[in-house]
Amino acid sequence: MRLALAVILLTACGGSDEKLPTGPIAATVTDYDLTIDLDSRATHAKVTATITEAGDCWQLPFRGGAPTKVTMNGKTAEASVDGTTITACGAGFTTDKPLVLELDHTIQLTTLATTDVGFTAKTDADHNAYDYLLSWINECDRFTPCDNRPDQFAHYHYDVTHAAGTTARCPGIVTDVSATETTCDFQFDGGPTYSTFGVIASAAWTPSDLGTWAGVHVTLYDRASTGVAAAIDPTYHTGYLTWMQSMLGPWPYGSELRVLTAPTYWDGFEHPGNIVLSDGLAHERGSYKKPVEHVLDHEMAHMWAGDQTTLAGTYDFMWKESMAEYFAYAYEDMMDPTAAPATLGYWKAASAAAAFYPVPGDKPALVDYYGDAYGPGPMVLFRQLEVLTSRDQVLAAIKSVLGHQHALSVDDVVAALAQSTGLDLTAYSAAWIHGSGKPAWPTVQVSYTPGTGTGTLSVTQVTSTDKRCKFHVALDGDQAGQQTLVAVDTFRDGLMQAIPVATPSYPVTNIVLDPLGECLVYGAAFVAPARFNPWQAQR
Ligand SMILES: [Zn+2]
Repeated sequence: MRLALAVILLTACGGSDEKLPTGPIAATVTDYDLTIDLDSRATHAKVTATITEAGDCWQLPFRGGAPTKVTMNGKTAEASVDGTTITACGAGFTTDKPLVLELDHTIQLTTLATTDVGFTAKTDADHNAYDYLLSWINECDRFTPCDNRPDQFAHYHYDVTHAAGTTARCPGIVTDVSATETTCDFQFDGGPTYSTFGVIASAAWTPSDLGTWAGVHVTLYDRASTGVAAAIDPTYHTGYLTWMQSMLGPWPYGSELRVLTAPTYWDGFEHPGNIVLSDGLAHERGSYKKPVEHVLDHEMAHMWAGDQTTLAGTYDFMWKESMAEYFAYAYEDMMDPTAAPATLGYWKAASAAAAFYPVPGDKPALVDYYGDAYGPGPMVLFRQLEVLTSRDQVLAAIKSVLGHQHALSVDDVVAALAQSTGLDLTAYSAAWIHGSGKPAWPTVQVSYTPGTGTGTLSVTQVTSTDKRCKFHVALDGDQAGQQTLVAVDTFRDGLMQAIPVATPSYPVTNIVLDPLGECLVYGAAFVAPARFNPWQAQR
């Protein structure tokens, strides 16, 4: 009887004074608004979310400055921070209304290792000040409480205060409100946090109109001394964007692209519709044959591969870099064929020096391994497979997984490639893509025995026998043009082969392994270069 009475009393009490939910809130962030003064880095952050589980306390990753004026839905909230998260508690919030968390803080003048990830306030080589707010995978909580999981999409609004004479640009529709205030409103389908958090400002840019490339109006923000403008051929990139849109659908970010140069740590970065390029690219040597052309195409590919379709998880990083590299390379190969072999050579050199597999089973910190994705990634995921099948089949696979907003894993890409090529890629993926420690790529021994009418090319793969592929061996003579290419397919035909070759009309004086850059296969005597980061800008 007592128990029944208690229940009745509680029910009556609940009826007259609605009980607010308690406990941890689960919510999906829909909007990030940053009001930021670039000189002081004083920031007002506003995070809007849809509540999926009611409660009174919301925890989000946060590594900004000490927060003040913390409110939830406009009312003062209790907040605590522990260096990696903020927990804000209010009166209790139900699922029928958006949740709005606001606070003031100062963005820290710090970066991730030696990269630009974080906030940079430096000067360029001509002594002009520039600022760069740069996110990355799992890094948006430097600027605001942020759900930093890679697979999340949101809308963004920036209200940037800066010195008069400084130009500030960020993803979205840009409005120069006054000489000292610029807003960027990003209301497209949504952008991932790794790239859509990005504000860059400089007093040194002269904007130049590069025309309309396949429906996209392009403006370059650059200093004359960089040489970048002179290295951009609008006709080449118009063809590229026409080709890309024919495969992947319309440019995902309105009808505008801004390209901005600065002395950045990386060659380029794919902020949606607001691509940043290293101002040293035009003078880069020993990487791509035409670094500006290649890197700009790489970053434009990311609008679809990385931004519109994003990463399912941190260790899916390699597919977006592999696709961006492969699209830039494939277009070079079709339209600018002297540039394509240099790209393949760069990939192969970087691969030989790599310290981690494309999807590293040992899970190093992203900053310690991401550079190793740029060489092996496009080689093992796309180049080796186009050699085993065809470029059309590889592009069809990529097309099948891009063109709409979603999160994608490396395994999803491999499944699409298997479907499109008809190859069973189970063993291939296990051998080439996944692994722990420094990758060991296959080495082969090659010899040629001349004969009457027919000679024999002997090929034996002596290491990493689980890694199979297809490549050519060139039998060269001393004179220009004396070359016979012999196809070797260890994927289908095994590790030891004696291949009959019609005897060339010239004496064979030199044997070249993989002259077409078709596989990460190396000679037994090959000495790998020291590890280097292919995407780090040279200056
Ligand atoms: Zn990239």
